[in-house]
Amino acid sequence: MAASTTSAAAQTPHHLVVGAGVFGVSTALHLLARGHAVTLLERSPDGRAAVDAASNDVNKIIRADYQDKHYAALAKRAISAWRTSPLYAPFYHEVGLLLHSGPRPPKDGRAYVQNGIARAHAEVLESDGAGVPFVETPAPGCELPPKARQLKSDADTDACFPPSLRDQLGAALRDMGGSQSAYVNPRAGWAEAGNATHAALREAVRLGARVEGSAVVTSLLREGGIVVGVRAEDGREWRTQQGGKVVICAGAWAHDLLRRLGAPAPHPCTPSAQSVILLQLDDEQRAAFRSAPVVLNFSTGFYIFEPDEHGVLKCVGAAH
Ligand SMILES: Cc1cc2nc3c(=O)[nH]c(=O)nc-3n(C[C@H](O)[C@H](O)[C@H](O)COP(=O)(O)OP(=O)(O)OC[C@H]3O[C@@H](n4cnc5c(N)ncnc54)[C@H](O)[C@@H]3O)c2cc1C
Repeated sequence: MAASTTSAAAQTPHHLVVGAGVFGVSTALHLLARGHAVTLLERSPDGRAAVDAASNDVNKIIRADYQDKHYAALAKRAISAWRTSPLYAPFYHEVGLLLHSGPRPPKDGRAYVQNGIARAHAEVLESDGAGVPFVETPAPGCELPPKARQLKSDADTDACFPPSLRDQLGAALRDMGGSQSAYVNPRAGWAEAGNATHAALREAVRLGARVEGSAVVTSLLREGGIVVGVRAEDGREWRTQQGGKVVICAGAWAHDLLRRLGAPAPHPCTPSAQSVILLQLDDEQRAAFRSAPVVLNFSTGFYIFEPDEHGVLKCVGAAH
């Protein structure tokens, strides 16, 4: 028994995943689910998504009404997992998403709204390539929220918010169906991004992943022109085994890292950034905002979340 276990282990591909943000941890979980071995290499000292990683955040929007149909299909399948997976569901808040043009809509503002609603309603297929329609799953014991709909009046907008906020919405959220185009997608919301990413890492470790912290990968090890491992800036080295791969999931660092690793130009990714503001609300303010939908102005890129359990409200400005 021991011998066969050892020989199975000896044949298992062992991959090196660089970066423990959501892409790295998700990659690790999928490889582990296929019976492969994984070592995650992360530059943060504790091996979790770094404090400056995009994934390590109070919250992120979860939605499937993206204008790109492939991304929208991927997100629609992911949202059912957010609702039902014991690992992810505790971190998902399906409060809905309200998208509006603002008082100075772009020329294609109306088309954006129609396309977003169409994407939210579109049937998508399972990811297995068999052409089987994907069936959305509600949270246990719940029904699916209603589908996305256009907002044609201020009364439509008010109905999206808890009563405590309706008389405080302000000019930015008035005149829907007039100077503004807007829709609400109740099958959307936000996730506790950092908490979910850290929980996924713990799950990967439980399933056998090794995690190396303070591992700032700076170069590749090659044998006969084939990548067989990586070296960190402190000189430590890790090697793949049994045909395992090196998978770079370095987020906004990927552009510089790929250049440093000698990847041929043009490099496939360019980092961008957004300005984030965190506001500490008091208990009364926090209660008033509870269960408010995420609000996103698609003309300016500004968006705002309901506060988290500590009363921290996040707003995000335009991308740079
Ligand atoms: C402000 C902001 C708001 C966003 N809002 C949303 C949203 O609402 N909804 C949404 O879906 N998406 C949103 N995104 C995008 C989303 O957050 C990112 O696409 C996602 O988190 C990227 O994950 P990642 O794992 O690729 O990168 P990251 O989370 O950045 O993780 C990369 C990891 O790699 C590590 N690393 C880097 N270089 C090395 C190295 N050389 N060696 C070892 N480790 C290394 C880093 O330390 C880091 O922990 C937002 C992004 C930002 C910045």
